[in-house]
Amino acid sequence: MSQRYFVPRGTQDTYGEEVRKWQYIERLARDICERFHINEFRTPIYEHTEVFKRENDASDVVNKEMYTFVIKNREGESPSLTLRPEGTAGFVRAFVQNKLYATGGSYQKYFYIAPNFRYERPQKGRMRIHHQFGVEFVGPSSPYADVEAILTGLTLLKELGITKFKLLVNTLGDEESQAAYKVALRDHFKPHLDTMCADCKRRFEQNPLRMLDCKVDHDHEAVKTAPMNSDSLNDVSKEYFASLKSLLEDQGIDFELDSRLVRGLDYYHHTVFEVVSTDENVGAQSTIFGGGRYNKLVEYFGGPETGAVGFGMGIERLLILADASGVDFNTQDSLDVFGMPMGDNAKPYVFKMVQDLRQAGLKVDMDIEGKSFKAQFKMVDRYHAKVTLVAGDDEVSQGTITLKNIQTKETVTVNKEQALEVIQAWLGEK
Ligand SMILES: [Zn+2]
Repeated sequence: MSQRYFVPRGTQDTYGEEVRKWQYIERLARDICERFHINEFRTPIYEHTEVFKRENDASDVVNKEMYTFVIKNREGESPSLTLRPEGTAGFVRAFVQNKLYATGGSYQKYFYIAPNFRYERPQKGRMRIHHQFGVEFVGPSSPYADVEAILTGLTLLKELGITKFKLLVNTLGDEESQAAYKVALRDHFKPHLDTMCADCKRRFEQNPLRMLDCKVDHDHEAVKTAPMNSDSLNDVSKEYFASLKSLLEDQGIDFELDSRLVRGLDYYHHTVFEVVSTDENVGAQSTIFGGGRYNKLVEYFGGPETGAVGFGMGIERLLILADASGVDFNTQDSLDVFGMPMGDNAKPYVFKMVQDLRQAGLKVDMDIEGKSFKAQFKMVDRYHAKVTLVAGDDEVSQGTITLKNIQTKETVTVNKEQALEVIQAWLGEK
């Protein structure tokens, strides 16, 4: 009995034109990272659960949406493992474990393109497996690093042709400023706490900053009248933020200050930023990429005090935006040359020529099934081949090949040694 199977809810298969769009974006992201001198970093797809679930972390991702599983190892222990819900924690774990703070230089820049797993209600652009392009810049606590990270993401949008977005920036201040702000928030929220949601009651203890972007209480009077963190910033934090804004202005980057921006995770200090879509077709205000500075995380994982800034960009959502912006991905399946053997005798002869042309750097395929001439020409159309390479008994006995330029209809029969030269001349003319 045969069975039919389907992809799990919230996941998808990717192939054909769609996968070529992915390749286009991934290639562009890698190319930009090369220009910015950002090296790739790969970490395991799962980590020990504690890597993601840290003390005092009140975010929804960590509390509700993780894929966690327990295995029994040979030592009889049952470690809890979790599929990565985000990229930063695993990266920092690896950075510390491999002592890169000691050996990797004083300013290190890394990127990754990897899947993240979140158990949430699937909707357009929010899959249970979603893919993220992210960067992590480690070393100096400097607004130059923050702006360089922002520039990396903005360059990708620009070179993709996405123009309808805006950059929001905020500062959470340094540790001292945040502590002062938390005190101010607790003083403010305390009298209102019994009218707020259960999550907010927990956040009040763990991190009252998170109460400011509560989805349940966003219209609550206490949220609207909460004190601004700018009132709690010390001089160092104010200076840092002023320098960041001035660097953005130098680069000609438009931005808006958003004093309510705190980001979804709890480890940020100083700069936080978000680039949101302003394209009405895809739902304005949806986040394209966001991140910030997380100076305490390397220490949390057992490393020395180290500055760090990064962002994550969801590739699924980027694709939706790119499609809405009419980005031309040039996703047609295409070939330089298609080989068409006429009869069994010519098949190994064409097979050998096809391989020679591939080694010369051309995109080449052929019919290996002995299809009719008509059926072979259908394949030429389907693969958008620019040149056909035909051989029958005559060509094999004379050591020649018949080439046809599909666009100009020009046909020549040449010695097989000359074929590459003719094809390259034809392809060069285009
Ligand atoms: Zn709430």
